[in-house]
Amino acid sequence: MRRPAAYPLFALLLLLGSCTAQPSDVHESRFIMGTLVQFTVSGASGDKALAAIRAAADEMQRIEDVFTIYGNKPNVVKAFNASTPGTPVSLPEEVDRLLVDSLEVQQQSGGAFTPLIGSLSLLWGFSLPQPPASPPSAAAIAAARNGAERRLLVRTGEEDWKRLSDQTMLDFGAIAKGYAIDRGMEVLRAHGIANAILDAGGDLRVIGKHGGKPWRIGLRDPRHAGEALGWFEASGDISIVTSGDYERFFIYQGRRYQHILDPASGLPADQSRSATVIAHSATLADAWSTALFVLGAKGLPLLGKRGMQGVLVDAQGKLHQSGRKLLVFHSANP
Ligand code: ADP
Ligand code: MG
Repeated sequence: MRRPAAYPLFALLLLLGSCTAQPSDVHESRFIMGTLVQFTVSGASGDKALAAIRAAADEMQRIEDVFTIYGNKPNVVKAFNASTPGTPVSLPEEVDRLLVDSLEVQQQSGGAFTPLIGSLSLLWGFSLPQPPASPPSAAAIAAARNGAERRLLVRTGEEDWKRLSDQTMLDFGAIAKGYAIDRGMEVLRAHGIANAILDAGGDLRVIGKHGGKPWRIGLRDPRHAGEALGWFEASGDISIVTSGDYERFFIYQGRRYQHILDPASGLPADQSRSATVIAHSATLADAWSTALFVLGAKGLPLLGKRGMQGVLVDAQGKLHQSGRKLLVFHSANP
């Protein structure tokens, strides 16, 4: 229903908005990659912000569709995982590129992160629609773990790859969300957005500022939902990505089993409660947050060497920080 009487008030609000020179934030959220992705755009008109957010969300959904190993929609990663061992499969340039980047982190992290974890991920089933309530058998774990050996994936030509075992399967679950965040942010920028947060369930990238001040980002307490261990002030262009044991897990016979696996044992990694990595690229921050979670505090020096910052809550609940500081962490309990 049209209400002409409201127009003068609307016009007045617009006028006030232009006086303060800071239009209010635009918030939108979408369910993508199994998580609520929240977009906040600051300092842009509503129409411009919404068009940018829509395009960014579409791009992130496209990336989920290309990389996921779940659901019934076919994609090239699932086709690779089902290919006859020893037969080369041609991967699209984008998949080939993320695979090469993933293998680099695999090598640099001493195998703590690996894109070859597909069989183990599917076996444990934490991301299935009906996650199991008990661990798989030791024999099944051993077979899937053998399939994750690096030598079982071979590049046979430009963008052509073959797997040597039917237990060798790709899983981009620990890096594709970061990649989607990076691509989503590029799309926001291409639409002329200069100040924004793109937050995919706690994994985020920020650009610009919030009303002239840094964005304030809380670090979640892994054992007390809704409570923060502290916060970062972030501006410019930076990503903050966390891998935690508190979202996908089950308790079996009094023990917590969570979804980040140690490729060395095939079992859930047990060194950390949460691992946060700060880097420019959300893709790298995502892969390394998983690696750091697996390695625990001993992984922190690896990040510093590569210009990244880490904040780790170890299995005992103790907070560790790496030497290099891209952002200052303000502890809630100094
Ligand atoms: P989140 O899913 O909470 O963002 P991660 O970024 O750490 O957490 O990704 C975890 C997912 O990555 C798992 O669900 C699984 O698909 C995959 N994964 C588990 N362990 C590893 C590992 N050691 N290296 C690479 N990928 C892993
Ligand atoms: Mg990750």
